[in-house]
Amino acid sequence: MPDKPSIVAVGAHAADMEFSAGAALLKHAQAGWDAHVIHLTLGEKGSATLSPEAYGAQKRAEAEAAAAVLQATPHFLPFADGELFATEDAALAVARILRQVQPQVVITHWRESIHSDHTAAYEIARRAMFLAGIRHFDLDGLPPMRWARLYFADNWEDPDHFRPYHFLDITAVMEQWKAAFDCFAIGRGEGGFPYWDWYQARTRLHGIALRTGHAMAFAVDEARMIQQRDLL
Ligand SMILES: [Zn+2]
Repeated sequence: MPDKPSIVAVGAHAADMEFSAGAALLKHAQAGWDAHVIHLTLGEKGSATLSPEAYGAQKRAEAEAAAAVLQATPHFLPFADGELFATEDAALAVARILRQVQPQVVITHWRESIHSDHTAAYEIARRAMFLAGIRHFDLDGLPPMRWARLYFADNWEDPDHFRPYHFLDITAVMEQWKAAFDCFAIGRGEGGFPYWDWYQARTRLHGIALRTGHAMAFAVDEARMIQQRDLL
């Protein structure tokens, strides 16, 4: 059983979790946690000029560089960009990693997205947590995962009904988070979409709500939106 607490982000494409949750991963790593990113696909079909093979190799190298900046361990699963489905194989592949890592916190995509790979990633992560936690599913003899808190990241492609609920002050790690964006061609704006502008503006708005510099927001299941008080 790992002796440090750990946090795992499960993303559809390399870059999804570095952009939408990277600052949170780094904050936990700096606090002594083990941080991990699971890439279900490389996002290899995202280039207008490169073949999926060439761009996949580039994305993998970019994700490895970004993980080093964020002090996280990357895990690459062999599924295909644009063809990600919530299959049992995919859930089992993620569940095996969850049992090895034994995370206290899991982050993944919000359930509603304009990208079907993202909604598949949400379903895969949920099913993987279920499979990892049930002791009667044998996964290569790995011990069952204890209960972990599930959070959904604030992603520009997953906005419908996304309700920010938990906010992390990320002001102190903005420089390193930007450095992780810069590891990716798309993070440098070369793909046409201004990723950094969106994420820095979004986290600045959340920061204003918190009366700080920048903040990263996460949604949770409605069942977890309960707070006990002695008096109102
Ligand atoms: Zn994506």
